[in-house]
Amino acid sequence: MEIKKQLKSQCSIEQFNFDQFQFGVEATDHMLVAKYSDGKWHSAAIHPYVKLTLSPLAMCLHYGQTVFEGLKAYRQSDDTISVFRLDRHYERINQSLGRMAMPELPKELFENGIKELVEVEQDWIRGGEGNSLYIRPFVIATEERLGVSISTDYLFVVVCTPMAAYYSKPLKVKVEKHYTRAASGGVGAAKNGGNYGAAYYPAKLAQQEGFDQVIWTDSRDHEYVEESGTMNLMFIIDGVLLTPPAGETILAGVTRDSLLQIARDLGWQVEERSISLSELQEAFESGKKVEAFGGGTAAVVAPLELIHLEGKDYLPYVADDARMFQLKEKLTAIRLGKEKDPYAWNSILEKALAK
Ligand SMILES: *Cc1c(COP(=O)(O)O)cnc(C)c1O
Repeated sequence: MEIKKQLKSQCSIEQFNFDQFQFGVEATDHMLVAKYSDGKWHSAAIHPYVKLTLSPLAMCLHYGQTVFEGLKAYRQSDDTISVFRLDRHYERINQSLGRMAMPELPKELFENGIKELVEVEQDWIRGGEGNSLYIRPFVIATEERLGVSISTDYLFVVVCTPMAAYYSKPLKVKVEKHYTRAASGGVGAAKNGGNYGAAYYPAKLAQQEGFDQVIWTDSRDHEYVEESGTMNLMFIIDGVLLTPPAGETILAGVTRDSLLQIARDLGWQVEERSISLSELQEAFESGKKVEAFGGGTAAVVAPLELIHLEGKDYLPYVADDARMFQLKEKLTAIRLGKEKDPYAWNSILEKALAK
């Protein structure tokens, strides 16, 4: 599929203050768009960043047929540009699209489109640990019709925003025993917009009680931990890395998968299995060393320093020598090309390399 290119003559990068900015508020100069109608994707183009125009009848505004992804591009230590696990994000957006009865994206549109967009925006990517370009692909239903039915028309858009090194303050979280993020048979495994809107209210209640986020538990018994906010949840208990299995109610995070792979190759004991609240309580109360963290593209590893569970506060280990930071460092080193990439996780942009 051909991707037309119309580039800005003057980029706004000079005006952007890299020393002080909020994540996700300002997009870079260009965006990728493609349309779907009459059963196929067409009109792919990279053009200057503009606002979208939508009919008030556009179906995405009413019935939530929306799907998104989040991934990052890095400037490696040898100045080449890489996109992290592009193929995995491609598989996942198609899984999300399938669940929402939306059309799959062709591989060359998603992968080449993102590579070409990143190549155009490469000057926005600064080197050094923590700096990256956050890439947000999304698909929305655009058919103009108020009837509740599957849209016939869609728009695929990719926008980018710079991301800086930021210190992720350890989080205080509350185990949620009433509200549910995902239920079996539901859409929890899809990055569908509605999942995030639905999580705001329980998170707001937790924030009013002084917590940063919630730990979601299974919808049936609220006895097994699932995720924390929009991150996969991991524990290191007595040296064993534990995380609940990804599936219908636990999103298959790319960071989760990467951290598990690294841990296994470091020779750590890794267990993907259900983790009950009583097992956690028992671990804390018997004085075992417990580390707890969330894993996701945005924060990579977000340490949890307090877990509020059934009226008690438990304090996981978050000191600098915690083992979760070894995993984070190793993953960062692979992404930045400081260490070998034995898994071929980095898609190197050949053209950017030649430049
Ligand atoms: C995106 C997301 C994650 C993290 O996935 P990554 O691929 O690591 O960014 C975890 N949980 C939920 C609910 C998510 O939406």
